[in-house]
Amino acid sequence: MKLEGLLEVLPEGTSPADRDLVRRAYKVAKGAHKGQKRASGEPYIQHCLAVASILAELRAPIPAIVAGLLHDTVEDTDLTLKDLRRDFGDEVTSLVDGVTKLTQLPRVSQRDKGARSVRASKGELAKETLRKTFLAMGDDVRVVVIKLADRLHNMRTLAHLPAEKRRRIAEETLEIFAPLANRLGIWQMKWELEDLAFRYVYQEKYKEIAAHVAARRVDRENALQEISLRLRTVLAEAGIQAEVTGRPKHLYSIYRKMERKDVPFDMVYDVRGLRVIVESESQCYLALGVIHNEWKPVPGTFDDYIATPKDNFYKSLHTAVIYNDGKTLETQIRTPEMHENAEYGIAAHWHYKEGRRPGDTYERRISWLRRLMEWRQDVDDAADFVDAMKSDVLDDRVYVFTPKGDIIDLPAGSTPIDFAYHIHTDIGHRCRGAKVNGKLISLSNNLQTGDSVEILTSKRGGPSRDWLNPSLEMVKSQRARSKIRQWFRRRNRELNVSHGRLLLERELRRLGVEGVSYEKIARDLGYSQVNDLLAAIGCGDVHLGKIITQVVEEDEQGFDLATEVEDLPPTELAADEVSILGLSGLLVRLGRCCNPAPGDPIIGYITRGRGATIHHQGCPNVLRIKDRERLVQVSWGRAKQTYPVSVRIQAYDREGLMRDVSTLVSNEGISMSSVHLSTKNSLAIFDLVMLITDIGQLSRVLNRLEALPNILEARRLRPG
Ligand code: MN
Repeated sequence: MKLEGLLEVLPEGTSPADRDLVRRAYKVAKGAHKGQKRASGEPYIQHCLAVASILAELRAPIPAIVAGLLHDTVEDTDLTLKDLRRDFGDEVTSLVDGVTKLTQLPRVSQRDKGARSVRASKGELAKETLRKTFLAMGDDVRVVVIKLADRLHNMRTLAHLPAEKRRRIAEETLEIFAPLANRLGIWQMKWELEDLAFRYVYQEKYKEIAAHVAARRVDRENALQEISLRLRTVLAEAGIQAEVTGRPKHLYSIYRKMERKDVPFDMVYDVRGLRVIVESESQCYLALGVIHNEWKPVPGTFDDYIATPKDNFYKSLHTAVIYNDGKTLETQIRTPEMHENAEYGIAAHWHYKEGRRPGDTYERRISWLRRLMEWRQDVDDAADFVDAMKSDVLDDRVYVFTPKGDIIDLPAGSTPIDFAYHIHTDIGHRCRGAKVNGKLISLSNNLQTGDSVEILTSKRGGPSRDWLNPSLEMVKSQRARSKIRQWFRRRNRELNVSHGRLLLERELRRLGVEGVSYEKIARDLGYSQVNDLLAAIGCGDVHLGKIITQVVEEDEQGFDLATEVEDLPPTELAADEVSILGLSGLLVRLGRCCNPAPGDPIIGYITRGRGATIHHQGCPNVLRIKDRERLVQVSWGRAKQTYPVSVRIQAYDREGLMRDVSTLVSNEGISMSSVHLSTKNSLAIFDLVMLITDIGQLSRVLNRLEALPNILEARRLRPG
């Protein structure tokens, strides 16, 4: 990291004089730490720069950033407080002094511990340190935030220290610093500190949970996406515009829950959580009513932190309901302002200093701090403190930075495209590439909190059609998606029709579907003319997945994954997934409309071709069926049924291509039963047999395969 990097992340509107001050502090710190090295071998100044940058990213005021650069000088170099006061004035000096005192605290405690004949327990030591921390922090909370930034960077670079030291520092982080960040309401710092420390303190548990999470990630994300959509729809029908997002679970919080409630991983991980952001406080309660009306609330789970905020001023409504699949769904309902407070905590009020309206939040926070100051004088048992810190605040947003250092708040899973549209619609349309933290990355990469993002644009031109393909997951936010659709909608109709035709033909060919009547599809989907349907596809209003499902459900020519299975020897068949009472031996498929999962109440529908489609009993499509005689009672059998499907991939061969293909396929949760590779000149042909559960899955995996570099085509091979 260079000085320029820090200057770039300084809050927007930083004056030239302040910039000079930062430069000067950098020079002084660099000179003072000259010759000193970090355990990583990097010059010491790198640490100072990193700490200052973390502070800048939290939008700390300039004196705190300057103090961040100088925070180790008094402790570790020849510079004195007197030198600092002469060069940087009282404010910066008192901040550095405060941080130095905090730095010494754990050591004081360690010595106390050694001097005593009876070894103090670790818990007591932590309590003592926490108490002293608060005593030492004076009236300036900025000191603690600088100390937290210092600790955060030390944790990020902990791998370079010897094992024993790593463990000690990580323990201290879990016992003192993460609770401190939590107390100040800075969740971003809290979870990063916790997850960094977790891997060193409970190495085995960390590995175990990380592996579990990695294995289940795709399924979970799919499920959450579907539930979010449902929730948004239900709210929209009640006239409430809501932003609904899933929440990634942090490894340490999973571990804590497993320990606290003494339950296995699955039970923690199976609880889905969503956050609902609505415009106003009254809408929070309206949304709650709608949710409770739609699903059965779990008794005892409703908490009104709006009427009665938590003691660190956290506000939200919490509730849990039984979702359609019989599993628990937790929701948090809040306004954008409540959300910002929950994420930035004490650091949130720094925003207001830069010309924004000083909301009442700021006032309340200050008075809360005052109470904290009073409290620290008479508290004996700092453990109360730690106990009071249980927080179920969930993180499902990413906070990234513009090149100027503005914080942009996006849904987790957002890509540079979402970022570009967030900045400006026109930048979105012209977005062609992106740099994250100075490095070029692919537009489909997910942004991480703390990333600094720069968008590369072309002079003119529009969005790419791939951006709307949900299989490729290139756009996360609803806002970006609708802007892209708008762009395509505004183009002339002929162009949209011809693009739509191209897309539909390609998808049908790819999936090996033949002899489909476009007129029928158009009619079934409520379009009076084929061209209307094609135009809708062309501008992204209708997604191909919907049409494909329609074709598969309705087409009497019997395109069906199951038809292919019959040509294969019976040993290739997987065990029946559902058993149908009184109709054994029938081929079954799960309805894409409701995706019933094992355990759901289900019902079968005998299709006009052969076999049956299994739907959720509450599926709207089932309720609409007029021909009730075709409905049959079914129940879940054993393992999930899959169908072997032959797929051919053509590509320009390259290093690692096979690996990329197999990783992608396995990430989609698909097994391959055979792989055959042949090469001709530089053209590689992969013939795979994939075990597919339904056409949607096939469509998705083919789409994703085609998006890999060098792959020319991925399509299904029809038998014969
Ligand atoms: Mn330091």
